[in-house]
Amino acid sequence: MSKPIPDAYPTSPRSELKRAPERGRTDRATVHAILDEGLVAHVGFATGPQPFVIPSAYVRIGDVLYLHGSPAGRKMRQLGKGIPVCVTVTHVDGLVLGRSALHHSMNYRSVVIFGSARPVDDLEEKKRVLEALVEHVVPGRAAEAREPNETELKFTRVLALTIEEATAKVRTGPPRDDEEDLGHPIWAGVIPLSLAAGDPVTDPRLPAVEEAPSYAKEYRRGPSPPLE
Ligand SMILES: Cc1cc2nc3c(=O)[nH]c(=O)nc-3n(C[C@H](O)[C@H](O)[C@H](O)COP(=O)(O)OP(=O)(O)OC[C@H]3O[C@@H](n4cnc5c(N)ncnc54)[C@H](O)[C@@H]3O)c2cc1C
Repeated sequence: MSKPIPDAYPTSPRSELKRAPERGRTDRATVHAILDEGLVAHVGFATGPQPFVIPSAYVRIGDVLYLHGSPAGRKMRQLGKGIPVCVTVTHVDGLVLGRSALHHSMNYRSVVIFGSARPVDDLEEKKRVLEALVEHVVPGRAAEAREPNETELKFTRVLALTIEEATAKVRTGPPRDDEEDLGHPIWAGVIPLSLAAGDPVTDPRLPAVEEAPSYAKEYRRGPSPPLE
């Protein structure tokens, strides 16, 4: 019998990794670290025979993923009904160049979540979520930005997606070429990739020349502190 994983998300036949299960993780620490470093979630849902996968910003607080958007949008309207949702977040950490064409791969960390969402209608809760979202994307910014007013809050839909099942999948390391290909005379290895910020570009409509704050100048996307 396999040992239970401490503090893990549940899985079911729909979320159990069948391919390369040795790369799979379900512990909250791994799942949360991948989510908290990410900026974009791909949100998948079906309203009939046609599935949709829509990229979106998000923030995780505890076991809940929060999304926001226009109440007129299909994603926010449909998800608000509580239909099943599948969300993925992916980081590409490297390009893996094998000796054989078919052993080219990627090093990555990804998460697949299953759950369903409820609309957040309470204005105070909405405000807290939107503040957390700003802070998730640019740590240090929320304290300085103007708070949303009541009209803005009313016309922004916020959804709380409870993570019911989650799996992470992680690939690291060199190519996995077959023994007989190791003598093939070409370079093999990994080209590391990461998300890097450029120099901040000041909005020309700022009244005076103002230096960008340190959270903009020193912006780095890496593991961020959890918003539990
Ligand atoms: C950047 C990147 C590139 C990839 N490129 C390829 C490729 O070119 N070809 C390829 O075959 N695979 C690729 N993969 C792996 C791919 O995501 C799937 O894991 C794999 O294709 C198996 O899919 P499946 O539906 O057969 O898996 P199954 O093992 O049948 O999936 C069962 C369940 O496991 C979970 N799961 C599956 N994949 C992931 C995942 N990546 N992260 C978290 N949970 C997961 C889901 O809950 C899923 O419903 C890539 C992954 C990443 C992140």
